[in-house]
Amino acid sequence: EHLRSNLFCTSKFNKVKLVDDLLGISDLPVSELMKQHITSLKVSDESDLEAENAFFVADLGEVYRQHLRWKTRLPRVEPFYAVKCNPDSMMLKLLAALGVGFDCASKLEIQTILSMGVDPGRIIYANPCKQASFIRYAAQKEVRMMTFDNVDELHKIKQHFPSAQLVLRILADDSKSLCRLGLKFGASLESVDQLLQTAQNLELDVIGVSFHVGSGCYDEEVYADAVWRARVVFDKAARYNFNFSLLDVGGGFSHLHNGDGITFEKIANVLDTALKNYFPEDIRIIAEPGRYYAAPAYTIATQIIARRPVLRNQEAGENDFVDSEQKLAGDEQSFMYYINDGVYGAFNCILFDHQIVHPKVLIKDDIFYFDTTMTGESEYSSSVWGPTCDSIDCVNKDSRLPELFPGDWLYFEEMGAYTISAASQFNGFMKSNVLYTSTENKVFEYI
Ligand code: PLP
Repeated sequence: EHLRSNLFCTSKFNKVKLVDDLLGISDLPVSELMKQHITSLKVSDESDLEAENAFFVADLGEVYRQHLRWKTRLPRVEPFYAVKCNPDSMMLKLLAALGVGFDCASKLEIQTILSMGVDPGRIIYANPCKQASFIRYAAQKEVRMMTFDNVDELHKIKQHFPSAQLVLRILADDSKSLCRLGLKFGASLESVDQLLQTAQNLELDVIGVSFHVGSGCYDEEVYADAVWRARVVFDKAARYNFNFSLLDVGGGFSHLHNGDGITFEKIANVLDTALKNYFPEDIRIIAEPGRYYAAPAYTIATQIIARRPVLRNQEAGENDFVDSEQKLAGDEQSFMYYINDGVYGAFNCILFDHQIVHPKVLIKDDIFYFDTTMTGESEYSSSVWGPTCDSIDCVNKDSRLPELFPGDWLYFEEMGAYTISAASQFNGFMKSNVLYTSTENKVFEYI
């Protein structure tokens, strides 16, 4: 409680007027909201085309809890949420009300955040390669903090926004992450002198360093290495008469709590220690978490719209399916299920974000199974496919599921990161809508 009241003592200043649509959100558990929604659809007009569409449930309470967790574990680090990860306006508004800053990568993202009433000082334009007109837009709106990692960018910024506060994005070891970013961005330590010299010659204001260890980082130790690299650059900068005051530790933060693998707590421990060791002085430290806030808050429910029983040749490779004509003794009965969102929609995270998603049974034979293990049901090898005509549109190649039928529902958890943001309407399939709830009462104080 003490933390909670301290945490939000500045909320008067941070508070953003949240729009009316947030006022009506439910406080039901995610499962209950899903059940209610699907049940209500059943009784509604059969001609309603939306009736059986896939849909997300976003639990804003989970976003709030992630924020508390951040503040507890990394009190020295101000989060600037990476809008690209999920620009859902409800989540953005809640984060804005909680006092979180924003990492924007484009003019539209900046526009979106400013239109919510967020002060431009709470935005970092964290794209090292920017279109000139976007830089002019940032100048006009007084979004001063922006990253760079190359000499040409410095000349461009000199021309379009000479009073910008520049943050030098350096290369970090991204080899321990699902989505490596170092292939495209980040100045090597060897190139830093030239960049600082150019910035000095151009009389630009470089205020600090940023890095990104890669999205979906699975080894916390890379943060320590990256903080050390940042220290090297801080020390170099002093030689060019820059007095750096900002360190941006980027994104890559896992949202996971426990298990043998990576967790947020493991990263926070390593990062906190490295910051104490290399940056004992009083500087501003920010981060650009995306996945950390968005992933755990969203669950998607999808309806099985069609299926195909197949016989899977156990001798064949994992991805080889055989037609029923090709029956062989010893083949196992298996099923192909077709659902109403796929890799061209919310499940684009499979292609772009290297995710593996796990289908769970939500409704079978009109019975609701959220978080319930079915007992006594035989399970079959099953593949799950999206609705488009493309065979790349495979959501899961091999899961164990009970026998399901069209009209049953599957759900997938932790679907908030890099899903909605890159979904398309390929083949004319609409993007899945989002329903909102909050399982945390405190959220309503920020609405
Ligand atoms: N900052 C920058 C510059 C990024 O490119 C990204 C993701 O690509 C992020 C932050 C967010 O990363 P994550 O979602 O892993 O926290």
